[in-house]
Amino acid sequence: MTGSFLADRAAELDAADPLAHHRTLFLGTDGDAVRSYLDGNSLGRPLATTADSLASFVTDQWGGRLIRGWDEGWLVLPEQIGDQLGRVALGAAAGQCIVADSTSVLLYKLARAAVAERPERTEIVIDRDNFPTDRFLVEGIARERGLTLRWIDVASDGGATPADVAAAVGPQTALVLLSHVAYRSGFIADVPAITRTAHDAGALVLWDLSHSVGSVPADLDAWDVDYAAGCSYKYLNGGPGAPAWAYVAKRHLATLDQPILGWLGSADPFAMGSAYQPADGIRRLVSGTPPIVGMLAMRDMITLIEEVGMAAVRSKSELLTSFAVEAVDEILAPHGVVIASPRAASERGSHITIDHPAFAGMVPELWQEGVVPDYRNPNGIRLGLSPLSTSFGEVAVAIGAIAARLASPRERAAGE
Ligand SMILES: *Cc1c(COP(=O)(O)O)cnc(C)c1O
Repeated sequence: MTGSFLADRAAELDAADPLAHHRTLFLGTDGDAVRSYLDGNSLGRPLATTADSLASFVTDQWGGRLIRGWDEGWLVLPEQIGDQLGRVALGAAAGQCIVADSTSVLLYKLARAAVAERPERTEIVIDRDNFPTDRFLVEGIARERGLTLRWIDVASDGGATPADVAAAVGPQTALVLLSHVAYRSGFIADVPAITRTAHDAGALVLWDLSHSVGSVPADLDAWDVDYAAGCSYKYLNGGPGAPAWAYVAKRHLATLDQPILGWLGSADPFAMGSAYQPADGIRRLVSGTPPIVGMLAMRDMITLIEEVGMAAVRSKSELLTSFAVEAVDEILAPHGVVIASPRAASERGSHITIDHPAFAGMVPELWQEGVVPDYRNPNGIRLGLSPLSTSFGEVAVAIGAIAARLASPRERAAGE
């Protein structure tokens, strides 16, 4: 496959893509400045409607309703958006999801709640290639609570398997914390099988869906998951620093004992009472005032995903990553580029990682040319393919730009 053949093939795939027109709903997709944006798994593009939602919120809601807005809908927005997300993308019945805090803070609260639910047990299981915040949080919790971490080693192009988890859990395991889609390799964990394995050992599971929510369907209720959380600024296009979301299975709500007891998680915040009584339901996970402005963009994206349907989103995602793998095999592998992601579309999420020793120096140069993937240590370029805003043409442009640089004498020298 030559460069022009690649562009032709991309044009055919774009022409045949039933979701292609959705790309124009996102800001910046008609521009020349960014020719290929392959970082929607790190920061999704804004929807054009979000510019209007934010402006009208400031003018009509905040400016017009002022403090009355809290009683007129803002206070219940975190649960409303949580329920919508649960229905559209998580397979979660109403009353179990909420938008709040950051992913790091929610993971901390949920992990602490989980170990409080298993007070006689002393171990937390996590994999060594999990996202740094996930690892750091449980290290902190282990220190606070006198617990031991049991680490699972995983292949760099894979992730934790049910067999790995079976070998790590035992009568001392309180909690297993893993990612649904691995942030580096894109590997999809077998959530139902791993959850079953953990439950068979009497442990609870906390799943991080940051790299799957909005691109890979989840079925949290059917999978019998205990707790989950994830990002909203990746495939949910919530914008930089958008609050995260959490899921707590109904069976755990009545006893959920989270560590940051604030007034807005209490049963009657405006009674200004003397003692903390947790709210009923998922609201007891809340600590302080909900970040309302930060929730508006994700609501627009969740609404779009609801119209399109997660099944269609997932099909496009598989086609995009398959095209990227095919193009890497044909055009970049001869230069020594290695795919560090699962080769079967059904086993990976919506990004792939490719490795080459020259990549560390190359990414800033690609950014200057308007080709924007991201770099992950030690020498990986991550190609994030956000199903509703990425075209096949963008994949072809990025692969072509990387190939051109690898063919230059300087890059060849760096690869030797
Ligand atoms: C992006 C990501 C996070 C980010 O957490 P923040 O608190 O939003 O910074 C956490 N975990 C995983 C797996 C991620 O991919």
